[in-house]
Amino acid sequence: MSEKVFSLKQDRLLEGRVFRDPIHNYIHVDYGIFWKLINTKEMQRLRRIHQLGGACQVYHGAEHSRFNHSLGVYEVVRQMCESVALKEQLSEYDQVCVLCAALLHDIGHGPFSHAFEHIFPIHHEIYTTKIILGHSEVHDVLKSYDEHLPTDIARIIDKSHPHQILIQMITSQLDGDRMDFLLRDSYFTGTTYGKFDMNRILRTMRIFQGQLVFKESGTQAIENYILARYHMYWQVYYHPVSRSYEQLLGSLFLRVRDLYQEGYVFKKDISLLIPFLENHVSVEDYLRLDESVLQYYIASFQDETDSILSDLAYRFLNRHLLKYCDLKTPKRLAQLQALAQEKGYPPRYYILTDDQKQVPYQYNMNDDVNEILILKDEKLYPLSEVSEVVYAIVHSSRSKRDTKVYYPQEIINDL
Ligand code: ZN
Repeated sequence: MSEKVFSLKQDRLLEGRVFRDPIHNYIHVDYGIFWKLINTKEMQRLRRIHQLGGACQVYHGAEHSRFNHSLGVYEVVRQMCESVALKEQLSEYDQVCVLCAALLHDIGHGPFSHAFEHIFPIHHEIYTTKIILGHSEVHDVLKSYDEHLPTDIARIIDKSHPHQILIQMITSQLDGDRMDFLLRDSYFTGTTYGKFDMNRILRTMRIFQGQLVFKESGTQAIENYILARYHMYWQVYYHPVSRSYEQLLGSLFLRVRDLYQEGYVFKKDISLLIPFLENHVSVEDYLRLDESVLQYYIASFQDETDSILSDLAYRFLNRHLLKYCDLKTPKRLAQLQALAQEKGYPPRYYILTDDQKQVPYQYNMNDDVNEILILKDEKLYPLSEVSEVVYAIVHSSRSKRDTKVYYPQEIINDL
């Protein structure tokens, strides 16, 4: 446990701040350090990045941002810190570290994260650490409190921190991040699959043998959470229409990159994209790009002379998405590629495949580190041994997999 001298008392705001929130009702900010972090430009940028990339094309209410979610994770972790189980176990310094990690855990997300990362060699996890450790307003706020804070927070997020409980609170099979996004995404999509009893789970949380574990009486609430996660993946996160939107975006940036490499002269200035196209992205370059900037570029691409790029941009902006079907045989793919080619739709940009599979609950017989641990009669048991529902899921021989091929509607009549 860290032994740094850090007094929260002196940092207490004269008047605590609250954010009204549809999931947690109130999000309480009582200390200056969190208030200052929330007001940094890096945190405010998250207001301009959707939490769920393409899901708003299916569930129109899902317009919530990474900013909402980051505040939500902070609130869940704050409630964990206040719980009987943790209050006496964590030093004040560790509580500050884990709460900052909760606020900042997604700070490195880029616009339309996954689709964008697919085309350009960038990883949001790496930028999260770079922003916390490098030149940023976030770094300046943290350092003004304690010079060790940036490193200790980055180590919680990249899972190298020696204090396992702090990591488990942010990143594990049952953590503040997952609990908030399931409840929040369920609320904003208008689906009910993601609901579960978070308060019950938090009430049954305990520290035992240096780990975050749950009392046996919390088992049903945790089963409900595992099933919520399972259903949300297939109904929301892996929805084929949402994937179609992201595929189209990936294709659009693939075309931009190809054109740039061929020496094509763009009508409009694309200077903010150049570092990404040339593979030398600084933290400053990265932070300049948010979804409002990308949406502007995409709108301007509609007027480009390159017909493929202008068509992809038009489709993306106006939700003329690609159709899809299950990809059962390679023959099917070849058939679609030939048809598209014949109709003037280069398959590189118009015939797209996407493979998704989900393991509802990670389980490793030889390593119980990933398992949710249940405390029963002063002994620890993996959740899958205590819960018949989870046992059935992890021992099911069928892994859920979904491979789709996307194609323009215009070639459908020839199928
Ligand atoms: Zn998150």
